[in-house]
Amino acid sequence: MLKGKTALITGSTSGIGLGMARTLAAQGANIMLNGFGDKDAALAEVRTVTDAHGGRVAYHGADMSQPAQIEAMVRECERDFGAVDILVNNAGIQHVALIEDFPVERWDAIIAINLNSAFHTMRAALPGMKARGWGRVINVASAHGLVASAQKSAYVAAKHGLVGMTKAVALECATTPVTVNAICPGWVLTPLVQKQIDARAAANGTKVADEEIKLLGEKQPSLKFTTPEELGELAVFLCSPAAQNVRGVAWAVDGGWTAQ
Ligand code: NAD
Repeated sequence: MLKGKTALITGSTSGIGLGMARTLAAQGANIMLNGFGDKDAALAEVRTVTDAHGGRVAYHGADMSQPAQIEAMVRECERDFGAVDILVNNAGIQHVALIEDFPVERWDAIIAINLNSAFHTMRAALPGMKARGWGRVINVASAHGLVASAQKSAYVAAKHGLVGMTKAVALECATTPVTVNAICPGWVLTPLVQKQIDARAAANGTKVADEEIKLLGEKQPSLKFTTPEELGELAVFLCSPAAQNVRGVAWAVDGGWTAQ
């Protein structure tokens, strides 16, 4: 379905971004990877899928807190593949602390990577999408883009901001063939969440497996993690012709978290 299209996915060396890369590649898309994880392993993993489905994969190491590097990545994707057709703003980090203990440097990094980076990628990529007459922007927000949790002030501020920016840019693009939407996952078992589970187990002197169950029980009524592949399939739907009038939504995939 996505043969000939190119997806630039930020923060795609692990977790949700890597899963979305695999799923979009399975639809025939070319993939530009980005992120600070194991680049060679991510490239090899996605290459097995692009090879099987007629696409191509590349990597750019832009630091998503650096506007000039972000612009260079978008331009390289356009040069190398001819376009950025699908932009997935996925790079993100987390820090958990009371606001009075929140390190200023961590606050700034979370706002830069989880929020500002999507401004810079969209600013750079949208003109090309509009000129070519097709585009999909998928912003990976969070259940924390819709509701809050204590000790996550920077993350919640960034993700609420990302949902708001998604709506504003969707309106700006409303009469064009470019759609802009957010997806809002609940818990997905990725390195970002594993770190939080491990920290809780260490702090409480409990087993990691018990902390996993407790974590889900606190927020996610399905008591099941969402998987990166499920989010990838939602991205595939948002790229389909049937989704041409889905604009400015914040689509929860959270096992009922925000229905409560
Ligand atoms: P992850 O840690 O596996 O992936 C994060 C990715 O971002 C990695 O590839 C990492 O290298 C990259 N990254 C971090 N800082 C970067 C920077 N400065 N420049 C470029 N890349 C950078 O975590 P994940 O859970 O897959 O998170 C992906 C996105 O999904 C994040 O935006 C996160 O907030 C969001 N999210 C995750 C969950 C969850 O439960 N895991 C839930 C809701 C939303």
